[in-house]
Parts: sequence; C-alpha cells; structure tokens
Amino acid sequence: MRADFSIDQQSIRAGSRQVVNLTLPSLHSDTSINMPVHVIHGRKDGPVLFLSAAIHGDEINGVEVIRRILNLPSINRLRGTLLAVPVVNAFGFDMHSRYLPDRRDLNRCFPGRELGTLAGRLANIFMTEVVARADLGIDLHTAAIHRDNFPQIRADLNDLQLKALAHAFLTPVLLHSAPPMGSLRYAAAQESVPVMVYEAGEALRFDEVSIRVATRGIINVMRELGMLTKPKRASKTKPSALLRSSSWVRASRSGILRAQVKLGDMLNKGDILGLISDPAGQTEEVLTAGSSGIVIGRTQIPLVYEGEALFHIGRSRQTGLLEQHLDAMQDDEALTSPELVEEPVIV
Ligand SMILES: [Zn+2]
Repeated sequence: MRADFSIDQQSIRAGSRQVVNLTLPSLHSDTSINMPVHVIHGRKDGPVLFLSAAIHGDEINGVEVIRRILNLPSINRLRGTLLAVPVVNAFGFDMHSRYLPDRRDLNRCFPGRELGTLAGRLANIFMTEVVARADLGIDLHTAAIHRDNFPQIRADLNDLQLKALAHAFLTPVLLHSAPPMGSLRYAAAQESVPVMVYEAGEALRFDEVSIRVATRGIINVMRELGMLTKPKRASKTKPSALLRSSSWVRASRSGILRAQVKLGDMLNKGDILGLISDPAGQTEEVLTAGSSGIVIGRTQIPLVYEGEALFHIGRSRQTGLLEQHLDAMQDDEALTSPELVEEPVIV
C-alpha cells in the first residue's frame, strides 16, 4: 500500500481525496482566511503535481480550469498525487484585485519568509506546504487587467524535463522565457521543482477556449507523466509552435489607439499594428511591427500613455505550424476536443 501523504500536519490515505485548509493571516475584522488545497492521493505511485490559479487575484480562468480538472471522472483513478489550489491569493480574489492588501504583487514575492510581509508570508506558506511537497507544477494565469493573451505556455526550455512536458501540453504556441525574479516559477526552480506557466485570456473574465485549451493541456501533461492513462487513439492536436523570444511594442505617444491587429494575427516586419491620435484625430502616429511574428498579447483599452506596452509579439520560424493552429482555433477544435467531458460551454 502506498504511504500516506502528509500536508499541514494531516495524513491523507492513498486512494482518497481531501480538502486541506491552510490558515492565512486574518482580515481586520478577525475573519479567518484559508487557502483550500484539494489533495487527491492516488492508490498507485506516481509524481506529485501541483496546479495553482489566481496568484494574481483577478485572473480567474484558471480557477474554472481547476474546477473542471477536479471533476473529471478519471481523476479518482489517478496515479501519483494532485495538489490543486484554485485560489492562491484569496485576498486579491475577493477584492477582484491582482494585488494583496499590502499592495504587493504576490508573484514578485516568492519564496517569501515566515516572518516577512503579508505577501511574503502567503508566498512562504505556498512554498512550504505545496511546492516543497511537489515534483512539478503548472501555474495558471491570464493577461493583466485590460489586456488579453493568446493561449500560451511559458517555460524555461533549457530544462529538458520541463521542455518535454511543456510540449505535451499542446498549446498553440510555446514561449521560451526565463522566469522573472520573485515569481513562483523562479522560486520553485531554485528548489528544483520545475514549473510551467499557462497564460490565456483576460482578467475578471471567463474565456471558454482559453479554459478548454488549459484543461486539455493539463490532462495531456498528466498522461505524459503517467498519472492518467493515455487514450488508445493518438491526439489530433498539432504540436506547439515554438517562440524563441518575444517583445512588446510600446506607445510612441499618449492618445487614443485604434488597434488593427488581433490575437493570433501573423505579422511581417513593418506591418501596421494601429494608429494613435488625439481625440479629434488632428495628429496621428502609425505603429508598426519591429519584427515579424505572431500577436500573443495586446491591450484591450484604447486609452494609452506614451511608453505603455500595447502589443506582445512572439518570434517563430515555424510559420507553417502557426497557420495550422490558427485554422484549428477558427474551427473551434479546442471546443470539440474528445478529451473534454460534456461541460456546458460558458458564453
Ligand atoms: Zn498573472
């Protein structure tokens, strides 16, 4: 029989599931705050995978992704152990805010300290109770407020194990990127726990395609790890197009942006991205792509300040593959993927 899984001084028997409420600092009103960790401790041996969402409290697509994973019929036959945390930043989540009440960005405060700031304490609890008990993790994000992201995995592809799993996720695009200092991804890598980040959609919104691509991707990774059984028929999903680097195009002036490209558009160097003018349109500047690539992120608010990041362009040589992905997304392939059970579509 597989040994019990211990977390927060509790023991969870193999073949069972349990919700463990990690105690966080309380509110002013002395209201208790918890971070529920859903532990599914499989009967059979396998890796320990953590899933996290809402580290930025207003990024809620991942919360719905984790709900779907926890309700998969096959999840109770899991090999290994799943630690799923739908809401890491409970404070921000309840206030529809990216940040913590101390105005810090939790994803710049890892690994945190037991006696540090509020953000540092929350980061430390997550590191010691979740990350330290896991072999690897998937952290779910969306774009920041008033921005939108094309579904993408970000990972340090110099880590060969992570590279194989990032490819297994089968997002349309896979971006090689070093983790920012203070991020969960950075701190976990220091502890030899590889983490990939999924980015898709907007803050405070549900986006069904983003949710489905992530749900399918997590299932794919768990199959690759042997945690779930692989289907007899191979997936029809195309391999991810690899983006070796990316850069932001910034506003050349303050004003009103009339954007002319959408997420997933493929660009050649010099293509027009949008026009920025004063409200009456008396003076106008044209914004062009500094390199060829694909639009993987963009602003959704037309009111811009000089220097503001407006369009995120990923560079790839695999243009044929990118085009196939874009066609597949247009056909709503992600919505009809056989891996996904009968979930009603959120519109
Ligand atoms: Zn985020």
